[in-house]
Amino acid sequence: MEGMTSLRPTHCASLAVCLLFASLVAPEVSAVEHVLANIDGRQRELTGQIVLEDSAGGVLLETDEGELWLLSADNIHSRTSDNKSLAPLDKEQLAERLLSEMGPGFQVHKSKNYVVVFNTTRTYAKWCSSLLERLQKAFIVYWNKKGCDVHKPVAPLAVLVFSDRNSYLRYAKKELGPGGSNAIGYYSLFTNRIAMYDLTGMQELRRQNSKRGTMHDITALLNQRAAVPLVATIVHEATHQISYNCGLQTRLADNPAWLSEGLAMFFETPDLSSNRSWTGIGKVNYSRWDLFRKNFNSGKEKKLEELLASDDRLREPRTTVDAYAASWAWTYFLIKWHPEEYAAYLNMLSEKPMLKRDDPQTRLADFRKYLGEDLRVLEEEFIRRMSRID
Ligand SMILES: [Zn+2]
Repeated sequence: MEGMTSLRPTHCASLAVCLLFASLVAPEVSAVEHVLANIDGRQRELTGQIVLEDSAGGVLLETDEGELWLLSADNIHSRTSDNKSLAPLDKEQLAERLLSEMGPGFQVHKSKNYVVVFNTTRTYAKWCSSLLERLQKAFIVYWNKKGCDVHKPVAPLAVLVFSDRNSYLRYAKKELGPGGSNAIGYYSLFTNRIAMYDLTGMQELRRQNSKRGTMHDITALLNQRAAVPLVATIVHEATHQISYNCGLQTRLADNPAWLSEGLAMFFETPDLSSNRSWTGIGKVNYSRWDLFRKNFNSGKEKKLEELLASDDRLREPRTTVDAYAASWAWTYFLIKWHPEEYAAYLNMLSEKPMLKRDDPQTRLADFRKYLGEDLRVLEEEFIRRMSRID
């Protein structure tokens, strides 16, 4: 489990860029827009719906495949509108779009809610979609029971699975830059896709188990101890995608990093024991817990207020691993012992507008409103209850 958090991508870091757009407003009528824009030095036509627009003509556009594009006015060549409302792509259309983008060598596997485009084995693509379908189903049931208005995704979700690490990294680099090169998979708030590579091809796993073929072999291989953090990363990224597409969170809204990451970590204990259900939700995530406890006992852990008010601890490479551990611990505590208040807080956050950053005072006031005015009282309860975890 060592170093697992350092594998996390920086998918939220680019949010800082979009927050440069100021005073954006939603258009009064929804229409399908065809925007000819300059993207990475090339002209490209995007079809979608304007979500927000600034007075200079810059837009946040959501395409028919669920991608979000921030286009400044000087990057837009022309715009035409046809007064229809935007229909998201269905599975066949999304598959066709992704296949033409990825080029020769890629194939597609469609499941109930996912379109998996891959150039590894079909069995591995099926294994992934089965994992994600089970996770998604369990996620929706879990939050509905907690009183959150969570629903199935309105459009199919895109998953890219590369056969090997290098081809995955080539794809990821375009979006994440060289900094993304340690990740084994990531969710992008902009493309709305998960990208990953075939874990069964990893040498260190194959040394221990040479089988690599049937669904059963894949499960056996990824059930090994060495594979647990790898599968956890896939589950973590898939949870982000589900959360943003099932109504629990809103993409590019001001989602506190501790909260988004805590949620993903709450679900990341993988469950490969069953083909049908998912029992990994809310188990103690020991890699996170052990680190948090160590930091706490040595007096290294910071006050809750710091975690809540700003994303800096999670985004700053020196403190990322520790801040993730704290985010898991607080999320676990709140969901377990304050589920209704936490669900109400989540519902409020899901209504936040896109591309608007809250200041630290607003973040703290929001949290206090739902989880308790006096943070010291909450911290005392946290210590009392969490210290009972073995
Ligand atoms: Zn994450």
